[in-house]
Amino acid sequence: MPSDTYDYVIVGGGTAGCVLASRLHHGDPSLSIVVIEAGSDVSKRADVLDGSQWAPLLGTELNWDYKTVPQKHLGDRSIANAAGKALGGSTAINAGAWTRGDRQNYNHWGHVVKDSRWSYDGLLPYFRKIETFHDPHGSANSHGFDGPIKQITPSARGYPLRNPLQAAWAAAGVGFIPDMNSGEPLGVAEMIEDRLDGQRIVAPFVYPLDGVDVLTNTLVKRVIIKDINGKKVATAVELADNETVIAARREVIVSAGAYRSPQVLMLSGLGPRDELEKHGIDVLVDTPDVGLHLHDHLSVLQWWKLKTPEKGLSIGSPFFINSDYFKGNPVDFFTTQSVPKQGLLDALAVDGNFDNAEVASQRSHHETWIMYVAQNAENPAIIPDGTHITTSVICMLPTSRGSIKIADADPSSAPLIDPNYMATEADRYTLREGMRKLYQVFRETDAGREVVESETVGEGTKAVSPEVSNEDLNEKIRRHPQYVYSFSSLCMC
Ligand SMILES: Cc1cc2nc3c(=O)[nH]c(=O)nc-3n(C[C@H](O)[C@H](O)[C@H](O)COP(=O)(O)OP(=O)(O)OC[C@H]3O[C@@H](n4cnc5c(N)ncnc54)[C@H](O)[C@@H]3O)c2cc1C
Repeated sequence: MPSDTYDYVIVGGGTAGCVLASRLHHGDPSLSIVVIEAGSDVSKRADVLDGSQWAPLLGTELNWDYKTVPQKHLGDRSIANAAGKALGGSTAINAGAWTRGDRQNYNHWGHVVKDSRWSYDGLLPYFRKIETFHDPHGSANSHGFDGPIKQITPSARGYPLRNPLQAAWAAAGVGFIPDMNSGEPLGVAEMIEDRLDGQRIVAPFVYPLDGVDVLTNTLVKRVIIKDINGKKVATAVELADNETVIAARREVIVSAGAYRSPQVLMLSGLGPRDELEKHGIDVLVDTPDVGLHLHDHLSVLQWWKLKTPEKGLSIGSPFFINSDYFKGNPVDFFTTQSVPKQGLLDALAVDGNFDNAEVASQRSHHETWIMYVAQNAENPAIIPDGTHITTSVICMLPTSRGSIKIADADPSSAPLIDPNYMATEADRYTLREGMRKLYQVFRETDAGREVVESETVGEGTKAVSPEVSNEDLNEKIRRHPQYVYSFSSLCMC
């Protein structure tokens, strides 16, 4: 153990934890800082560094590999929820897609917290500072050109479906936009990935931790809170060995990710009283919101039979062999769209959600990926033989709210994750609209029909058509939901 008292003690050496530690140190090298991370140092692992393959990493110890509690609105299915367990956190296993959100989302944050630093313009200097934009001629107002996160696009890979799909989207009324990361993402846009000389960018590679003490393979149990002059102050952390205590002169920072940060807080006695008492944890501060309001952007998968698979259009085809195709995610575009306002207002009314003008404005409601691979999760009719592509429509502005609870007082137990997916009619409406739009793209345009012969459905579901009912589409959502890491069948090839 290097030392047992530091100025800053950071719990969780993931994306946020590494960046914070690095920035604190470089801002003032005299500070003593420790990062405590449950996972391992992956800086020498070839499988992590390989920027082209990430899905195989989900099957390793670098993934906490959570399952949600059975999801009431998804036919009681438990959905796999991945999260990185490594120095670098989820950047050690993620897909590396670099997407800035819609300006309106950030402005809403700024409004909610009454702090303009969280608005789009408040955050823009940081968006610029972090990136090296892929196009040196891009807008200097929107982008940075010498930041640590280097970006690439798939355009040079020459996927054969690139132009046909762009034409099909255009025929369905969705035009190409040159830059989805400008705060205005509506349209068909180049998918951007972050890569450094073809390699994965793990947070501590570009936010170095030299001068910071790092404890890997070390699980934190709780933050120790003391009463000092009538104030509750976080003074130290206790490790899961129930013995080691590491003290903080200035601050304890909990950056253990969306699932485990609430767990650490609850094990520290900060959380909803009844939840803590249920597990025999002393309540230091009754904070009912800890673990509440969880929301996540679920997607629905569909599979489309290609009209001319012999042209080598999708992974698994003996003709999909250009080595450039495998230099990143097998996707050209992310397509971001708004749903019709009245339909959404009607759906919000069904939910009794009448105070949501923000959600119902013209903004990014769903995003669609068209993947050059037949991902066969839960659809045995699909094999990755180059005959199919997979689409994923993602609900980008979910109104469903769930929770994180603790299973017991053991820090090594997985938290109980309940995103309460698709609890609202607004979320189901959004995904239904996304699926109907895809039908229009593939089946109602000449350009789309040149690409796709038909939709191949999973058991118990119907192909989208003008005749299918909302309930038929809801059933597709229930049967083919996916947590958004949908490129994962790459690992099968
Ligand atoms: C498979 C996958 C694909 C993704 N793809 C993309 C993508 O393409 N584009 C994108 O923008 N985002 C993507 N993401 C999401 C993105 O990676 C995360 O939003 C981001 O990394 C979260 O950062 P964080 O610091 O909040 O948490 P994390 O990076 O998850 O870090 C939390 C860290 O805390 C550690 N920890 C937890 N509990 C404890 C404890 N008690 N003691 C000590 N350490 C602890 C964990 O091991 C972890 O290292 C993906 C995520 C996953 C899992």
